[in-house]
Amino acid sequence: MSDNQTKYIFVTGGVLSSLGKGITAASIGTLLKHSGFRVGVLKLDPYINVDPGTMSPLEHGEVFVTKDGAETDLDLGHYERFLDNSLTQNNNFTTGQIYKTVIENERQGKYLGKTIQIVPHITNEIKERIILAGEPKDILIVELGGTTGDMEGMPFLETIRQMRHELGKNRVMNIHVTLLPYIRTADELKTKPTQHSVQELRRIGITPQMLILRAEERIPNDIRKKIAFTCDIDEDSVIEAIDAPTIYEVPLNFKIQEILSPIAKQLKLGDLKPNMQEWSGLVRKILEPKNKTTISFVGKYLDLKESYKSLTEALIHAGANLDTKVEIKWVDSEKIENNSAKQYLLDCDGVLVAGGFGERGVEGKIQAIQYARENKIPFLGICLGMQLAMIEYARNVLGIKEANSIEFDANTKEPVIFLIDEFIDAAGAKQIRTTTSPMGGTMRLGEYECNTKEGSNLREAYGISTIFERHRHRYEANPTYREALELNGMIITGESNGLIEAVEVVDHPWFLGVQFHPEFTSRLQSPNPSILTFVKKSLDLK
Ligand code: GLN
Repeated sequence: MSDNQTKYIFVTGGVLSSLGKGITAASIGTLLKHSGFRVGVLKLDPYINVDPGTMSPLEHGEVFVTKDGAETDLDLGHYERFLDNSLTQNNNFTTGQIYKTVIENERQGKYLGKTIQIVPHITNEIKERIILAGEPKDILIVELGGTTGDMEGMPFLETIRQMRHELGKNRVMNIHVTLLPYIRTADELKTKPTQHSVQELRRIGITPQMLILRAEERIPNDIRKKIAFTCDIDEDSVIEAIDAPTIYEVPLNFKIQEILSPIAKQLKLGDLKPNMQEWSGLVRKILEPKNKTTISFVGKYLDLKESYKSLTEALIHAGANLDTKVEIKWVDSEKIENNSAKQYLLDCDGVLVAGGFGERGVEGKIQAIQYARENKIPFLGICLGMQLAMIEYARNVLGIKEANSIEFDANTKEPVIFLIDEFIDAAGAKQIRTTTSPMGGTMRLGEYECNTKEGSNLREAYGISTIFERHRHRYEANPTYREALELNGMIITGESNGLIEAVEVVDHPWFLGVQFHPEFTSRLQSPNPSILTFVKKSLDLK
């Protein structure tokens, strides 16, 4: 084992899923970061999939894209937003990836013919990756997905047990997040599920040093005492996490309960005084904003709002920094197709067309863009939103009626959006994509440099000539149409090595389409400039 001195906080969950374990872990990380530590995070996903990027958003919410192009679990997005850190593929792995590596090693004879077993081979591989993720950090927060007792989680829990044994109690701490259900007929918060969950952990050899209890309302003192006693936890280490009006309030709620004192005592971190002044100022602006602006969010599958998580969070960040409530009006693009854009967009201050895949709802999005352009409403188009803004302009201003993307019509005569068969990717390697390439692994993913044009909305938003933003798409804007578009008032204002990254309409108060996904780099304390400026214009030009 390496001799670095990283300390590890493992966060497990009990009773049931969806307890907000990720937010809990991120909130503890935030307090530690604001106390001056270098804090890293790692999300362990016990499911067997090797590539979370190909999982259905129906089951899994958003695919979050890291700087280095990994398609990961949406929890990683929360970690970036809370910790204001850029994470990489080393910050998330699944059981499938572990087994894949171990089996490949076995095939290459790396285990010298030994019998391959969960202990030590699988647990060693997990351990190595945990240590790698923690390497340059003072503290690594490790969240284990799923619930204690899940079969898939067992090798991970065993690894956690081993690490505390090997590294000692001042370098490894276990925090368990559980639920205190409220039973109406008894008018009582029930502690039994928590007791059982802790017993289950103990059976595996893990004793939690802290319990974080999710509850709908304040937890009475006698209940806390009872839990401390029955679960054998210090009283100051029984922390309540009641439902908060904004997730960004959670670190503040923990701070009030002095959550850091038992953590600091356990891990020998000294006397900690997190400076949360700026953070709490922003939270106050989320809760009691002075201004308000209404943004129409045009997308499809709106019942799946989790798949737009980063974007809705980015709007909250922008609002907080502008002391403004950003009211989102969800507009289903398929409804626009059947009625009219005006009917849905009449009373909004800004129009946002988000990214997406597939043909469904596309014509409605195009109508929404036309409405925003003609009625001079601030407009932001993201990824597919930019592509459709170009198609709309080609059709309705340039008169190229058949303008389309080859994503929707492989044989279109006017491929304004097409496939570039060759480009250099973020790692400097040559990528080849053709219509016959397999769908998996053929997207432009991760961070790319983009040069902004002087005097453009894009330059004004960022204030610098070279910016870095993340991508997740297969198709690109076709430069063949560039001259015609620019002669007629749609200019290219962002470029990356010859690829078109941003478009704007000259005769419009604020219109911006971006090929990248600005929402992936937005954080509460440093909102993304294009989204911030979009919200600001929606407010100012009201
Ligand atoms: N479907 C489009 C593409 O693949 C846009 C993707 C997106 O909006 N993320 O290029």
